[in-house]
Amino acid sequence: MVLFLDLNSFFASVEQQLRPELRGRPVGIIPNDCDTTCCIAASYEAKHFGIKTGCGVRDARLRCPGIALVLSRPDEYITMHHKVLEAVDTVYPVDAVYSIDEMAFRLTGPDRNVDRGRELAMKMKSAIRSHCGEFMRCSIGIAPNRLLAKSASNMMKPDGLVVIERSELPQRLYPMDLTDFPGISDGIRNRLHRVGIHTTEQLCRATKATMRRAWGGVVGEVWYHWLQGDEPHIAATKRRNCGHQHVLAPELRGAEQARAVGIRLLHKAAARMRHEGFWCTKLTLKIKPPDAPSWVAYVNLEPCQDTIRLLWHLGELWKIQPYPFVFAVSVTLGGLTKSDQMEEPLFELDRKRTRLAHTMDRINQKHGHASIYYGSMHEGRDSAPRRIPFSTIPDLGLADTGGMGAFKTTDGSTRIADQRA
Ligand SMILES: [Mg+2]
Repeated sequence: MVLFLDLNSFFASVEQQLRPELRGRPVGIIPNDCDTTCCIAASYEAKHFGIKTGCGVRDARLRCPGIALVLSRPDEYITMHHKVLEAVDTVYPVDAVYSIDEMAFRLTGPDRNVDRGRELAMKMKSAIRSHCGEFMRCSIGIAPNRLLAKSASNMMKPDGLVVIERSELPQRLYPMDLTDFPGISDGIRNRLHRVGIHTTEQLCRATKATMRRAWGGVVGEVWYHWLQGDEPHIAATKRRNCGHQHVLAPELRGAEQARAVGIRLLHKAAARMRHEGFWCTKLTLKIKPPDAPSWVAYVNLEPCQDTIRLLWHLGELWKIQPYPFVFAVSVTLGGLTKSDQMEEPLFELDRKRTRLAHTMDRINQKHGHASIYYGSMHEGRDSAPRRIPFSTIPDLGLADTGGMGAFKTTDGSTRIADQRA
């Protein structure tokens, strides 16, 4: 069984927890202070007025004149995320962290029992309340696999607890709309319509072949098994590259500052690549100046996880980039291969440096991003700000954790994985 925990209105709840004057009020979280921006989260009180993620600020004020629009504070959300992880970790080991407000636990052995699952869920809720504050509520779903557990967590909000037992499948799912399933977007729903599937009951009755046709491949087959309550084995992800881009603040557009940002981006991309178990064979640097076409250069590499070697190559590429002023930098690691298909690096120096890179990743995971880094990135350390991860369920590419690798969020999961290893 899988227990899926989703924090309710996470960013808005953190603000209400930290700022008592916002409690009980409609709150919209905005990423910057301008009239053209939109809410990236809304409190439950605001949701009653029809305000949700993506709602424009003007529209939000029209719908709810009393709304408190609050500038987002990503660092506070990341800190709270870690506190939540600490809290639930006292109850049960986290299996995977999917985003800043979503995590899953794999209940094994006697913990698969439904009553035991409910008991664990209640303990997690109370651990979060006492460790993080009473405004930090969550909805929990328990079901035979992650897709169904996440679906169950969506069924009751806020502060819900829903269990779907195997014996209730598939009938228990029938009341759901197709788009209630995480991973069924409007686009997928339209494709389902085209193969004659309009309801969840029809979806659950569809054959493997129909599902394949609807999804255009093996993903449909995975869905077939999910809906039956099975946990299909998912083949290795086909991820081809891993990269980061950053638009520079106006005062940082000189080539030297841009180089420092590039170095920082490379560190992030490399840490993420290692975290996901890949080696790269290509490094690409792309420079967009303020007023001219982009410049792109790449270098092919022996399979590499070593940040120092990548930094050296980035330095070589940078020497030939032509622009004195830079609007945006992007660094991409390409030609990714899975670690388990790799042999150990041939040379002792490479082996040592690869181990060093992994060690640095672990230290950064434990003590916060950029606690330890190579001297060359010092300048760029704070230039690429954290963005708030917005991943919902990473729909197959399940192995691709939806943009998380660059964030401190991921670190929680790894920290835990390390402890258990
Ligand atoms: Mg949530």
